[in-house]
Amino acid sequence: MKTLLKNGNLLTMERERIFYRTDLLYEDGVIQAIGKGLPLDGPNCQAIDCTGKYLIPGLFDAHIHIGASDMLPMLLANGVTSVRHLTGGERVLALAEDIRQGRRLGPSIYASGFVYDGHDGPSENPEHQYISNEEEAEKAVYDTIEAGCLWVKTYPSIRRDLYKRLMDTANACGIPVCGHMSYLVDAKELRDWGYQCCEHSSSLPRHPWDLRYLAESGMWLCQTQVVCETLPDYVWNGKQLEDLPEWAYVPAYLKDLWKRQNEEIALGYKKRGLKPDIQEVIGRGRAFMEYSDRYMAGTDASYPGITAGFSLHNELERLVTLYGASPYEALKAATIRPASYIGVEKSKGILAVGADADIVILKENPLAYIGNTRSIDAVIRGGQFLGRAELDSMLENAAQLTKEQVEFFEGNSEG
Ligand SMILES: [Zn+2]
Repeated sequence: MKTLLKNGNLLTMERERIFYRTDLLYEDGVIQAIGKGLPLDGPNCQAIDCTGKYLIPGLFDAHIHIGASDMLPMLLANGVTSVRHLTGGERVLALAEDIRQGRRLGPSIYASGFVYDGHDGPSENPEHQYISNEEEAEKAVYDTIEAGCLWVKTYPSIRRDLYKRLMDTANACGIPVCGHMSYLVDAKELRDWGYQCCEHSSSLPRHPWDLRYLAESGMWLCQTQVVCETLPDYVWNGKQLEDLPEWAYVPAYLKDLWKRQNEEIALGYKKRGLKPDIQEVIGRGRAFMEYSDRYMAGTDASYPGITAGFSLHNELERLVTLYGASPYEALKAATIRPASYIGVEKSKGILAVGADADIVILKENPLAYIGNTRSIDAVIRGGQFLGRAELDSMLENAAQLTKEQVEFFEGNSEG
């Protein structure tokens, strides 16, 4: 079945320009034609009137952890059609393959391997892998590649000599390394070793010269402002999970889990007196962005309080209001930038002939106000058209799921 989206206003993301009253034809999950006045292409072609609506490419959440199946409809209903999943795991990789083969409906998933850390961290997480010798440093890279993952993910407590061995091995194998930088290796040196992407503004070094060096060297950044601010907000500023506007869409099991996790997190931070200065954290991200546009919009869903899908719109808004990006730059961070970072820029994050039919139809112009990315009228995922009524029922069904009905993809998500 061919589908002709008639008379929409297209923001293709190839440049900062809206193509008004333009048609888009897709078939078999791929965009076939874009132009004015395209004719209905045969009897097997349905037309959908998009007059007055805005079409943008499906959005990326460039930092997420797909913990459970309820996240999939929440992502799609919010126009998130691709994600970068940062904790590997066999179950997520199997899910990614099921989605790719069309056996399940969900966003395209691009995954890192497991999280690798050193033993000197503040606490050890049973979900993480720990590196204590050179053999394990090499194995981290080999295991990540063997699992079919795209990035080696590191935490900051890996011993300096072992980090070097890991980076050398990754470079020799041609796989990039991303994560939380290092407590033990200078940020500039780590970048010189080839470190590719810093996850979270809070993982950036503090000194402006370091930030400039990293930015000008071509390193990537995924700010995840929404998760950076959960620490001050929930631990110190009295924010409650119930304050989230989308709280009604969070399944009951997850509400309970998040409340328990948030209490534990708050206790830990209060005990250690850790009180991050969020303005200082934002300042680091802004200093980086003065010298580079290599940044991506990510959220860290499903960290407690970071709701799948909804949180990406919050992140886009923060990139504009707190980090000084224009609405167009923010949109790039959720479309063509992650696509080009991953190397899928021909098929994702763009409205172009030959690209995947991953499309969000908005009621309002996102360039006029970035919050308009929330005005979703329909989402097309791999050519599957999901209208507003369908998206609403997907959200309602997800919210009703009990723990027994949810499929968990990461061990720690079961709490
Ligand atoms: Zn994360």
